[in-house]
Amino acid sequence: MLLALPSAPRLLDTSGWADLAARTVPGAYHIHSIRSDGHGDRTQIAAAAARAGLKFIILTDHGDGTRPPDAPAYIDGILVLDGVEISTDNGHYAAIGMPRAPYPLGGSGEAVVEDVRRLGGFGIAAHPGSPKLALRWTSPAQPDGIEWLNLDSEWRDESRSTLVRAGLAYFLRPGPALATLLDRPETLERWNALVKKAPTVALAAVDAHGGVGRRAEDTSRSLSGTIGIPSYEASFRTVSNRVILDSPLSGDAAADARAVYAAIRKGSVFTSVDALAGPALVDFAFESGFNRKGMGSVLAEDADGTLVVRAVRPDGGELAIVHDGRVVATTHGTELRHVLTGARGAYHVEIVAVSTTGMPPVPWVVTNPIYFGAKGPAVARAELSARFGEASPKPLRGEGGAEGARGAEGAIAPFPWRIEKDPSSSAVLRTTDRDATLEYKLGEGERANQFVALATDLHEQSFSAIDLSVSGDHPQRVSVQLRTADGRRWGRSYYIDPGGSALRVRVGDLAPVRPAAMEPHVRSNEATSLLLVVDLTNANPGRSGSLRVRSSAFVQ
Ligand SMILES: [Zn+2]
Ligand SMILES: [Zn+2]
Repeated sequence: MLLALPSAPRLLDTSGWADLAARTVPGAYHIHSIRSDGHGDRTQIAAAAARAGLKFIILTDHGDGTRPPDAPAYIDGILVLDGVEISTDNGHYAAIGMPRAPYPLGGSGEAVVEDVRRLGGFGIAAHPGSPKLALRWTSPAQPDGIEWLNLDSEWRDESRSTLVRAGLAYFLRPGPALATLLDRPETLERWNALVKKAPTVALAAVDAHGGVGRRAEDTSRSLSGTIGIPSYEASFRTVSNRVILDSPLSGDAAADARAVYAAIRKGSVFTSVDALAGPALVDFAFESGFNRKGMGSVLAEDADGTLVVRAVRPDGGELAIVHDGRVVATTHGTELRHVLTGARGAYHVEIVAVSTTGMPPVPWVVTNPIYFGAKGPAVARAELSARFGEASPKPLRGEGGAEGARGAEGAIAPFPWRIEKDPSSSAVLRTTDRDATLEYKLGEGERANQFVALATDLHEQSFSAIDLSVSGDHPQRVSVQLRTADGRRWGRSYYIDPGGSALRVRVGDLAPVRPAAMEPHVRSNEATSLLLVVDLTNANPGRSGSLRVRSSAFVQ
């Protein structure tokens, strides 16, 4: 059998690009080490990255955020950064630049997105196009970033013959062999929809495990499960994220980590399929008068000016400006100018290299957008919090008990609470005429069904929301639930700040609590109980603490 080898990556001429080349720093994101289901330690992984010509790596071992991340360090000349990949009910969510979480992160995707943000981290929807439903990101919550390309997902949807061909070629040209498996992922369209709502950073994930073995993502149909590849180095030679910094890396790990994370957060980063050609360099900016704003910038709506792209690209490659998912300008040259009047929406750049073999071809380069009129991340966050009824950040003072709630419609504050719990957990309830305080301890030992709840009975009341003022002795999450007479429950998770959280629990926001398959929404007058549940979703067995309900009221 004659084996057609994929061509070697094309080496591009970057003379004349010295300044940009010095500030464009390639790295790999989404890597598993022996700490979870990968096969190399950080020293081995850094060595592989050095051989592949990278400058930084971001490890994302599986976890719940409670392990303190390793401090940034240079190993083998590679800046090693430590993140975490969190499992949620709606798929995997990677968090970078996040300090240790005060409780295990998990539960609904919305809750984890909110927690990562509140903790100061940056969250990325992992493998959103995974063929496996359990892994796919299905949350309606707006992530901070999204993997527009995930190598592990990409080869799962290829036919076995393609995999075998790639497997044979792999031993001769690992990077290009992996690149033959790449198509244009549908996730790019999903990303285009996300950036219409709020700035969302697109990254490429190697999702590298360093070879064969059992992994959290299941080995069935994966290339590594089939023939024991790819190595870290092969993954690192296939795609990279290239952050554009204000100045070159300094060699100081802490300062460089801040610079790399800051560039990713603001979208000053593009991805390139290095197995096709490299090194990729892109200068993308909006020029208006003497102003020049680069990739990731969020500008006012109705701006007038010119989008200017300069890029190194392979012969025959096509450079395109994409507006809200549609190509609006193209060139086969190295520079593209596109005049905008009254600009709005998101513009990004894609470059297709001719040597791409996928159908349709994967773009060689995808940049992050320049936004016009988009809500900045801060605005989007505030809206998200409001929508999810999250706590206001400022502590509540002096509004406990009947005094505080009397003004609200239908106030019956405080509710007559009682305790519900599993037999292994313990709880005490202290009630005054001003508040109710629950002291609890979840049962020790194996994870089972440990839970403690404050419960109160409802009597065919009609309401659209419940206002609750709740505090606790430590940062925690409670699931506020409505239960019908037949035992079905609908709920939503809320963060409780030790300083106090004012919750507006909208009945329409409550979703079915697993495992029952049932109607998406509950009618308040059918509910017979209101519950505030502490369970193992965001706490470990044996966890103790307290919850204090200072006021509660129905909203009509
Ligand atoms: Zn994953
Ligand atoms: Zn992963």
